[in-house]
Amino acid sequence: MIYQRVALIGLGLIASSMAHAMRRAGVAGEIVGTARSAETRSVAAELGFCDRVVETATEAVAGADLVVLATPVGAMGAIAAEIGPHLAPGATVTDVGSVKRAVLDAVLPHIPEGVDFVGSHPMAGTEHSGPRSGFAELFDNRWCLMVSAPEADPKAVARLTRFWNALGSNVEQMDVDHHDLVCAVVSHAPHLIAYTMVGVADDLSRVTDSEVIKFSAAGFRDFTRIAASDPTMWRDVFLTNKDATLEILGRFTEELFALQRAIRLGDGQHLHDYFTRTRAIRRGIIDAGQDTDKPDFGRSGGT
Ligand code: NAP
Repeated sequence: MIYQRVALIGLGLIASSMAHAMRRAGVAGEIVGTARSAETRSVAAELGFCDRVVETATEAVAGADLVVLATPVGAMGAIAAEIGPHLAPGATVTDVGSVKRAVLDAVLPHIPEGVDFVGSHPMAGTEHSGPRSGFAELFDNRWCLMVSAPEADPKAVARLTRFWNALGSNVEQMDVDHHDLVCAVVSHAPHLIAYTMVGVADDLSRVTDSEVIKFSAAGFRDFTRIAASDPTMWRDVFLTNKDATLEILGRFTEELFALQRAIRLGDGQHLHDYFTRTRAIRRGIIDAGQDTDKPDFGRSGGT
């Protein structure tokens, strides 16, 4: 056992998956959960992945030696203000937000003396949300990026690292601003591009109607999966990782214009060189064990 009592604030995909994975690993003496709505609390109680479901965040953190903020990023500051005075001495507070600078700035001022804050970002997820969507294997062989406040006790960081390892993750420490830039490249900008592509197709579908859906296996389907992700979570990601996302989107637009120009000028060499480079990146991801090399991600019958 790594923690005697873990409090989960928010009971969606990530928190429910953590609860399942904690049970699998036997790392928590007791799991106490809470969520904003009575409906989510009652679904969580019915599913039974927490030992106790309570009504308020204040009740949830009482006596907890690990507190996990697992709500959209924009809600974390207010929650930290609410629970701050009720945190147990010696406790560790972490979050699972997809953005780290904004979370540190919003949460740290509410963390009292004798409590450590260490941010976590499990690089694992699906397009599903809510307490029914969690599963124990979500973090297996995935990275968890950890961002510590400078004053955090190294023992608290080491203990939380052991915890994420037990849940199946590999852990890497990262500087806070570097984290936000890396995530803008690998996650945030790609999501915005997927949202845009699906939006464009939706506009076109007024003309082509069901063809967009009928022929979607030809690449578009994968954009639709990403673009089905939770609107609140992703709104908060873009509002709180503004600078890094805008930086990457600026570069993206430049490259897009260069490719557009190559197409217009018939510059096949440029296109071929570019696509050769991107193919090698895909190979690197597969070699690193972060995706399958099966055609169409192992879907049967896809094209
Ligand atoms: P989710 O399934 O949508 O669940 C969010 C939870 O937060 C729900 O229990 C919700 O309660 C609660 N909540 C929402 N707004 C709140 C508010 N204003 N105050 C208090 N509680 C609130 O979300 P998730 O996918 O687990 O994501 C949680 C966090 O993990 C986010 O910060 C996200 O950036 C991060 N993350 C997500 C992924 C992913 O792929 N999904 C991956 C890595 C990290 P109700 O149900 O009662 O509304």
